[in-house]
Amino acid sequence: MPSKKPIIHCEALVVHCMDYRLQKFLHPWIMRRFGRDNFDIISLAGAVHDYEMVLKYVQLAVQIHSIKTVCLINHEDCRAYGHAGTYKRHKNDLQDVQQKIRILFPNLRVDTFFLHLDGDFEPIS
Ligand SMILES: [Zn+2]
Repeated sequence: MPSKKPIIHCEALVVHCMDYRLQKFLHPWIMRRFGRDNFDIISLAGAVHDYEMVLKYVQLAVQIHSIKTVCLINHEDCRAYGHAGTYKRHKNDLQDVQQKIRILFPNLRVDTFFLHLDGDFEPIS
């Protein structure tokens, strides 16, 4: 008899930077926002800095976990950006990647945030 694997699903894919300074803010915030066992998460240096990599994981999370939301979080003083990492640049990159994901996956909700070093999550729209 052919066995069918049950469909598994979580709400969101969260993309944030690997930076150790932010983890203490990220994990509680993500848990509050999406709830336990309800998100995939990836840490990439510079978060959305590598768009191709982000897209690869969005595609995968849609495919294997039927996610509905992508949450992109860049942050202040990101060393992966170096001197190029101005507030304006982070905002532009977040909006650019948000738009690209929306075009490829029109059913996905894409939220963007700029995380300040004091733990404040600023929504970018
Ligand atoms: Zn960073």
